[in-house]
Amino acid sequence: MKIVLLGPPGAGKGSLAALIKDHFKIWHISTGDILREEISKVSPLAAEIKSYIEYGNLVPDTLITKIVDQKLTYGLRPEEGFMLDGYPRTAAQAEDLDKILKKTGSSLDLVLDLETSLNLIVKRITGRRICRKCRAVYHISNHPPKVANICDTCQGALHQRADDNEETVKTRMEIYAHTTAPILDYYRKHDKLHTIDGDEETLVLFQEFVQFVNENKEFHKN
Ligand code: AMP
Repeated sequence: MKIVLLGPPGAGKGSLAALIKDHFKIWHISTGDILREEISKVSPLAAEIKSYIEYGNLVPDTLITKIVDQKLTYGLRPEEGFMLDGYPRTAAQAEDLDKILKKTGSSLDLVLDLETSLNLIVKRITGRRICRKCRAVYHISNHPPKVANICDTCQGALHQRADDNEETVKTRMEIYAHTTAPILDYYRKHDKLHTIDGDEETLVLFQEFVQFVNENKEFHKN
């Protein structure tokens, strides 16, 4: 199974991705996670990446595509199946992804688009907390940890992403509307797009997706 998860920031892509990855045993490639790991280092590249993420701006296409290319071409075996989360985000990235996949002899099965309402997005993003160790996603009211600020699974410390604040969310939403949303058309034209209701609970979306995959057996060919 080779899929892309699309949707605005706060649509719940990360939470859904965690369930899909465990269930279908496919690789989960989150470009946001890769970039955050990179900026935890001290390097000129880390400083450059930070200068974009901090203000909710996109890092340049060439840089992010190089990272995804490395992962898909050398870092893992795409034929085992993967889920891209946070990539592509621009028309150029969507075209680059097709080229990378063509090079590895494969293509996408599906683009899952989480259509989500704006007021929910702001609530989800400002209440989101992430485990520093295992990156599990919590929410202060919708999905709080059993012990405040401690991850239920690995006991790591929870934190709020530096870009998860109302001001940055506005920029990220504007970028999504202008730059990322138009690529939905690209995938619609290629008959790859499947839109789901991102306002639903993650577990409901996951169950619906499992059913969708079961009804579309071509996903099992990989
Ligand atoms: P995310 O965790 O997917 O919300 O990504 C966090 C931030 O990382 C974004 O706001 C961007 O600054 C950067 N980023 C992640 N993926 C991409 C991408 N495909 N293209 C450009 N910037 C990205």
